[in-house]
Amino acid sequence: GKVLVTGANGYIAVWVVKALLEQGFSVRGTVRSASKGAHLKETFKSYGDKLELVVVEDITKDGAFDEAVKDVDAIEHTASPFHFNAEDPAELITPAVAGTGSVLQSALKYGINVKRVVVLSSCASVIDTSLPQPVTFSEADWNDYSIREVQAKGKNATAGDKYRASKTLAEKAAWVFYEKYKGELQWDLVVLNPPFVFGPVLHAVDSPESLNTSVKDWYTFVLKGKGDPQAVATFASAWVDVRDLAEAHVLAIKKEVAGGNRIIVSAGSFKWQDWVIEARKFAPEIPLGDTSYKSPEIYPLQYDTSRGTRLLGIPFRTKEETTRDIIANFKEKGWF
Ligand code: NDP
Repeated sequence: GKVLVTGANGYIAVWVVKALLEQGFSVRGTVRSASKGAHLKETFKSYGDKLELVVVEDITKDGAFDEAVKDVDAIEHTASPFHFNAEDPAELITPAVAGTGSVLQSALKYGINVKRVVVLSSCASVIDTSLPQPVTFSEADWNDYSIREVQAKGKNATAGDKYRASKTLAEKAAWVFYEKYKGELQWDLVVLNPPFVFGPVLHAVDSPESLNTSVKDWYTFVLKGKGDPQAVATFASAWVDVRDLAEAHVLAIKKEVAGGNRIIVSAGSFKWQDWVIEARKFAPEIPLGDTSYKSPEIYPLQYDTSRGTRLLGIPFRTKEETTRDIIANFKEKGWF
């Protein structure tokens, strides 16, 4: 079969493309300009024309994907901005919401072979950061908090809430669309909700400074010891290895039973200090920092991952494996 991957040059998407190609799929990737596809073509040159790239300059335009969806059997929509530099929340919300809308609209009109559409959402659409911790979230939870914050505060909302609102609004739009057209679609929808995504990089990055947001955080907090020292000990979240998330994308198109579900894809919880401890196994020169740290028995932020286990059944890498591979990857690049 052939699979359309939007934003194919992104950190996560390149691993999705790799997993698809390795498992025998053909891939049509979209990028915003031909030059953004060059590294992809080079990386996967051994697959020849099993990887095809098309340019979609503006994903927010009606009909943007009309050509791209033709003759594909499934769609993985990953293109969406992930950064904390937006002044106006619309810089994130417009591409997130309208990009998702145009993919689904094109799939409705022209995706005659499409059986499944996978939308890469985020745990950003699930969590409510105003709740007291420890807290456990599941797919039943929605991050209406960030939407309210952005509505009330606009540009003055936190960078985190602007991003999280963009993901929540985009995912809600996908489900509204799906419910509306369900009766006339020959495809169904699966939404994947990962927390922080870590792991080696395969996409085009020429320096650590230009890393994607999540891996740059890991680099800053763990390897460089440059993160806010307070946050190293207190900030708590959850994570998944990028290669396991890529496998989840493949399973999400293969597993019939997954249809109609949003699925949290998380390997577990972390505090930054946990990663520092792992990293010192492979690079003892990294300063330990907080010598009194003990990993908590109950992490402040947790996800119920039973749905993902039941529907996809992904075996997750451990923090140790992921750390080992990131450090090897960064050493190879001369970044560490
Ligand atoms: P990257 O920044 O590496 O990739 C983002 C991709 O989206 C790129 O292909 C980028 O294209 C494209 N994109 C960004 N803004 C726009 C826009 N305005 N119009 C069209 N395309 C755009 O990040 P990730 O791989 O980490 O993120 C991919 C997806 O995963 C996002 O949807 C993100 O929300 C989600 N996600 C990421 C997590 C993480 O920890 N990394 C966690 C949970 C979800 P270009 O290169 O041209 O800018």
